[in-house]
Amino acid sequence: MAQTSCRKCSVPLVLGENWTDGLARARSYICRTCLSANGKAHYAKHAERAAELQRQRLAVPSNKKAAAALKSAYYAANKEKWLEYRATHRERLQQDTFLRAGKLLTWIRARAAKSGREFDLTREWIAERLQAGVCEVTGIPMELSKPPGSRFHPWAPSVDRVDSKLGYTQGNCRVVCWIYNMAKSEWSDEVVVTFAKALSARSSLAN
Ligand SMILES: [Zn+2]
Repeated sequence: MAQTSCRKCSVPLVLGENWTDGLARARSYICRTCLSANGKAHYAKHAERAAELQRQRLAVPSNKKAAAALKSAYYAANKEKWLEYRATHRERLQQDTFLRAGKLLTWIRARAAKSGREFDLTREWIAERLQAGVCEVTGIPMELSKPPGSRFHPWAPSVDRVDSKLGYTQGNCRVVCWIYNMAKSEWSDEVVVTFAKALSARSSLAN
């Protein structure tokens, strides 16, 4: 087939990059960025109504129980399929920066909502930084996979707030390796630098 391009933004569509197998099969000539924007616009338009309906549904105790029962029945009946999906999805999260960005965004959005902090990050903003591939502070290449049996990779990407008193905004955030984020916690870069210098000077492992 001749080269195709996005019907919204005209960017050339590249399978596996900005176009998925699913979209190609459905002959949906739209890039993932535009698709995601469409989804967001649709959600924004109907968010209040959807949230209200969901609240009404879950407010009835029997509905809540029925929903949970349906869910576990579904997982029980489709266990193989579900496990397979989970395994492939995990694998894809380690390869696909756009997918991974979506996952990070979901986490952060929830955390921002919980703490009532400002939030203006987008999937594209994160994906761009994941594609750059290095920690914005240390320059260490980031790692999307993780060692078997452990929850986190020290070089896994994470979103750090420069000033931890401020929100999850593009102006206050950067994508750094997990260990940097952990070490910095609610403090400043200077604290980590002091720590790292002292460690490096003392460590018999450093040369
Ligand atoms: Zn597009």
